[in-house]
Amino acid sequence: MNVVMAAAEAIPFAKTGGLADVCGSLPIKLAEQGHRCSLFIPAYKRALHSGLPISDTHVSFVVDLAGKLMSARILKTTLGNGTVDVYLVDQPLYFDREQLYGDEHGDFRDNSERFSFFSRCVVESIERLRLPVDIIHCHDWQAGLIPAYHKTNFGNLQWYGNAASVMTIHNMAYQGRFWQYDMNLTGLDWRYFNWQQMEFFGDLNMLKTGIAFADVVTTVSPSYAKEIQMPAHGCGLDGALRAKGNRLSGIVNGVDYNVWDPRIDKNVAKNFGQENWREGKIACKQDLQREFRLPDRADVPLVGLIGRLAEQKGWDLVKPLLEAIVDTADIQWVILGNGEARFADALMELARRRPDRVGVRLEFSDSLAHKIEAGSDMFLMPSRYEPCGLNQLYSLRYGTVPIVHATGGLIDTVNNYSDASAAVGVENGFSFQNYDLDSLKQCVLRAVDIYSREPHVWDKLVGTGMSQDWSWTNSATAYESAYRRARELAAIDGRL
Ligand code: ADP
Repeated sequence: MNVVMAAAEAIPFAKTGGLADVCGSLPIKLAEQGHRCSLFIPAYKRALHSGLPISDTHVSFVVDLAGKLMSARILKTTLGNGTVDVYLVDQPLYFDREQLYGDEHGDFRDNSERFSFFSRCVVESIERLRLPVDIIHCHDWQAGLIPAYHKTNFGNLQWYGNAASVMTIHNMAYQGRFWQYDMNLTGLDWRYFNWQQMEFFGDLNMLKTGIAFADVVTTVSPSYAKEIQMPAHGCGLDGALRAKGNRLSGIVNGVDYNVWDPRIDKNVAKNFGQENWREGKIACKQDLQREFRLPDRADVPLVGLIGRLAEQKGWDLVKPLLEAIVDTADIQWVILGNGEARFADALMELARRRPDRVGVRLEFSDSLAHKIEAGSDMFLMPSRYEPCGLNQLYSLRYGTVPIVHATGGLIDTVNNYSDASAAVGVENGFSFQNYDLDSLKQCVLRAVDIYSREPHVWDKLVGTGMSQDWSWTNSATAYESAYRRARELAAIDGRL
């Protein structure tokens, strides 16, 4: 199949979260499986400095945004040893900025204009580059207008006639919601500004637009696909999602084991695999303790945490948890995150209070993230909600037992250890059901207790986790099925 993807982030060009991991890895895997894949992303400052050679396609054109004429230039590079073409949509006024979506003052005020422009450029460029398209695969709200352009035949582009569209939601909390007059920027007819398509409580909603117009909608785990159809997790779009019926499904993200595998990881003190994980983790733990200036002790349980400092990730529970047990429980905590000041301040305060037990780094550091995955005994991920989650998958491969809140993708990937089922051999971690401090505390202390007193059980949990395959192979196959289904449904609708 000829697959064209559009997204606001992709490694190694620009990353703020899991979206980038998916969009940088999935096209490479699909190309390996015989598909022709290309990817469109904005030419952010950091994307142009990723180190990959960039050439000019000599395709340039002008986009009319409510009477404002903006020029676009399409640059090109490749991923996966030349197997995936990557097109960068260049307009310095929109994308030559340090950050992707906002700065210390909040979201950029022209985000609707920036991503209307991006989406318009994608559909135009496909035509001008004469790319064959069987599937246009759009990720998150920033590409949410594309299925609407496609289905409404905006601009009468030829490629529309042979393509079906897939919209993937990475997080319902980010919807691209703007005041209604930004409809004019999209260029789409106001008749689509209704409650079933683009309108949401009087505003323009770009994620809703993508959901409404796409042939098939996917999200990043089967449990999250169920959860978002209910009010508690649907962020107001549960009805729009229920309306998709069996056009909605969940596919767990894959892990790029070329990047996240302790056997070959260049960031860690000692490489290791299933056969020698004990020695490997001892060396990596010591290295991590030195990095975070924690006492050099092999026996103490070390819990790692990595993630955006946002409420979603459960920091509102982590803070009281640490305050409650940091003095009494002999546990070391290593924390890496950046984001909201209220969480950053609280974590720094804890590190000041107990420098012997809590190490905190408030930054985005890929190499530290690798070191934490390798050197921790446990990885804590108490997310309030979690569409898929990647860190728990990395943890499994690194022999770091995940402790998670049973929600979304964490349900689909972490099997809670319970004494009764110890022999079954599918348990790979610990999870708690209720999102409250007591449940989290009990779960963490139970994990620590088993780590300290039942090493044979611990070894089994580690072994099970390390032997599991969360590579892109299965996920890419599931996306292939979603693409086929999108084409079948488009054919049934009489559009193919
Ligand atoms: P989300 O996309 O909601 O942020 P995921 O778990 O799906 O969460 O993906 C987060 C990705 O970003 C992971 O690859 C994780 O290692 C990485 N990450 C998050 N915060 C940091 C940080 N401060 N430093 C390095 N990597 C980080």
